[in-house]
Amino acid sequence: STARWRDLDVRHHLNPFSDYRTLKTRDGGSRIIVRGEGVHLYDSEGQQILDGMAGLWCVNLGYGREELARSAYDQMLELPYYNSFFKTATPPTVELAEKLAELAPGDLDYVFYGSSGSESNDSVVRMARFYWQKAGKPEKSNFISRTYAYHGSTMASASLGGMKPMQQGYGLPLEGFHHVTPPYWYDFGGDLSPEEFGLQAARAVEEKILELGPETVAAFIGEPIMGAGGVLMPPESYWPEVQRICRKYDVLLVADEVICGFGRTGHMFGSERFGIEPDMMTLAKGITSGYLPLSAVMVSAHIAGKLIEQGGEFAHGYTYSGHPAACAVALANISLLEQEDLVRRTHEETGPHLKARLQELLDHPLVGEVRSEGLIGAVELVKDKQARSRWDDKSTAGQICRDHCFASNIILRAVRDTMVFSPPLIIEMSQIDQLVDGLRASLDRTAAELGR
Ligand code: PLP
Repeated sequence: STARWRDLDVRHHLNPFSDYRTLKTRDGGSRIIVRGEGVHLYDSEGQQILDGMAGLWCVNLGYGREELARSAYDQMLELPYYNSFFKTATPPTVELAEKLAELAPGDLDYVFYGSSGSESNDSVVRMARFYWQKAGKPEKSNFISRTYAYHGSTMASASLGGMKPMQQGYGLPLEGFHHVTPPYWYDFGGDLSPEEFGLQAARAVEEKILELGPETVAAFIGEPIMGAGGVLMPPESYWPEVQRICRKYDVLLVADEVICGFGRTGHMFGSERFGIEPDMMTLAKGITSGYLPLSAVMVSAHIAGKLIEQGGEFAHGYTYSGHPAACAVALANISLLEQEDLVRRTHEETGPHLKARLQELLDHPLVGEVRSEGLIGAVELVKDKQARSRWDDKSTAGQICRDHCFASNIILRAVRDTMVFSPPLIIEMSQIDQLVDGLRASLDRTAAELGR
């Protein structure tokens, strides 16, 4: 029953990213989610909830897909597990590797597997350093990424990330991890046009490379569109310049496609949207629509070629690298994504509809900017539109608004005072309307609460 589950949650469960003092109280505990169907979740009291976040930006095909459950079931009966260490591999593992190589941009032809986005970004750190050793430049060991970025929770991926609360007090970032300003025009652009600011933000990467010494820099990593950092949409000028700079100084360019991959932006990969040709690319979340944990690092033929030519053990891997059931689910998931034409639909139909509906929110007194690409979007809440100013307590309005959404059975997330969207790609037009109308009602309640 609900009471029992909530009690167990309070007494025995430590939830990720939670304030235990407020959650672990006698009348506290989590809302218990028991079932999902399409874009809807159902809680233990029978309430239907519209999931505007696709879980954690991952359930791209929606809930309750029998084909995905069936692919896991069949594979588990055939061979539930075997590893790919020590000269073994399984059919789904290699079939998926071929499929990913076919889909990935450029010559990203090789795949290294993990089970989470964090693991895949940790693997990038190892793989990039291994590559530079093999290329005769072992001193290339520094990594550059952006403040506000989220690349995972393990110690190396959280070092790549640029979120202060994840680092302060935890001894992070580890040595060799450096951060530059993100392309967040609305907050940092000042009087510059978005395109001028995009160039300035890209040049911050060059300045950091020069400060560290190009001969010491292994890689730059960034999401095509930064997701958990607040859905930060880079100006068009940003990525071409970052790419030019990375090439100029022989710095590997890594695209974290954990959120952007598999159609989220209306392109199979966010890199395609911005013309990025990464040397490595990390994938997770949408690779299985979250049905089983799986992640991958795609590696260019150029890098893999060097590792193959030079030899020597890559001393890195996970028990679940290339897990056959997870790979079987990924194959079924990608096949449905293609059959249902969801990437094109996101690009041409649902994405433009979300964009148009978000634009309408600009007349709201709390809304300073809206932005979206495909089915990832953001609504900036501000105290004063002209000054683009926020409230003193950085996350007040966002959290109030998120809680009103949740109370009215709509899931959206707040990043600082930015409301973010990432619904399942199967969402219908009318459900997008419900999401945006629900957000407007919650914005009204938030404004009333803040006395606006
Ligand atoms: N990279 C990005 C861009 C993410 O958004 C996330 C998770 O939200 C991760 C990496 C980490 O993935 P995981 O939570 O599967 O470790």
